[in-house]
Amino acid sequence: MSLPLIPAAKPIIGDDERAAVDRVLRSGMIAQGPEVKAFEVEFADQLVGGRQCVAVNSGTSGLHLGLLAAGIGPGDEVVVPSFTFAATGNSVVLAGATPVFADIEPDSFCLDPESVRATITPRTRAIMPVHLYGHPAAMHALRAIADEHGLLLFEDAAQAHGAQLDGAPVGSFGDFAMFSLYPTKNMTSGEGGMVACGSDEIARNVRLLRNQGMEVQYSNELIGFNARMTDVHAAIGRVQLTKVGGWTQQRRENAAFLDAALAEIPGVTTPPVLDGATHVYHQYTVRVAGDRDAIVRALRDEHGVGSGVYYPIPNHRLPSLAPYAPGLELPRTEEAAQQVISLPVHPSLAQGDLERIVHAVESTMKAGA
Ligand SMILES: *Cc1c(COP(=O)(O)O)cnc(C)c1O
Repeated sequence: MSLPLIPAAKPIIGDDERAAVDRVLRSGMIAQGPEVKAFEVEFADQLVGGRQCVAVNSGTSGLHLGLLAAGIGPGDEVVVPSFTFAATGNSVVLAGATPVFADIEPDSFCLDPESVRATITPRTRAIMPVHLYGHPAAMHALRAIADEHGLLLFEDAAQAHGAQLDGAPVGSFGDFAMFSLYPTKNMTSGEGGMVACGSDEIARNVRLLRNQGMEVQYSNELIGFNARMTDVHAAIGRVQLTKVGGWTQQRRENAAFLDAALAEIPGVTTPPVLDGATHVYHQYTVRVAGDRDAIVRALRDEHGVGSGVYYPIPNHRLPSLAPYAPGLELPRTEEAAQQVISLPVHPSLAQGDLERIVHAVESTMKAGA
């Protein structure tokens, strides 16, 4: 294979990010400080309609602290999808509560409200959908179920910076929402997470839990963590925030090209976008008929096209989380886990790369890999 590999994801770090890091390093103030504060305000204004934001050291910390801040703990059940990264379910367990896995809608790959309804028990305290691949979950229907049963509603928006539903940004629906800033996400701070908070109380609790339970120094009110973001990371994030809108536009254009070009290939199902949804294509995920793993191998080995499988094993089948779901079967989740391939859609792709991806999928499917 002589063609260079088109990677499945490619973080973009430029001179602006390097200059920002250098500025912070030169200042001598490296830990959480003014850069973090500014990043929180700018992120809030740009991405979540001004909701209070609190920066933390990872997306996983954001989920964990958000759950604790909302009062989730032992004896509580939180309904989550199984078709997601393990951090979603892990954070519920870390908070001392029990994850209850529900199935997905086949089109959006996100939590199915009817499946959620079927899981509700007297111990259910909250629902936490994931805006998977950058497609918003069915927040209106989930909010209606939450209100009907007196439940809290959270958002795992790790993959969905800038996604919208009926004109409202993800992160503005839940009692809290978490955005990941890991390098392969739509924007990065190196490592990091942002918690968008639906109330002053939750925001204050996340701030306390982030920093040893202190708001006033050495006057610790509760047992907390050190989950602070550094000013070095916040400085990277602030630069990325100025670029993420353009990158998202490019992702959407790349996806539109792939949609049109892949639609006619037998055995390939392109990702639908539901009414009212603005998809930000963290991943461009197709379903394929046939031996998925062989197709992934052929794309890479014969055509130099990297791809990803998110996620081959649903959370309720993982050795770590399966004990919370004895005997559970989620047919649509299990089907998706066998069929999905995420093709490159990132903003660094050139037109020639997109054409190579289409050609690779076409010949691989024709060859009946
Ligand atoms: C990336 C991701 C997380 C965790 O974020 P980190 O910043 O890696 O800790 C949680 N949920 C989903 C759906 C993710 O994709």
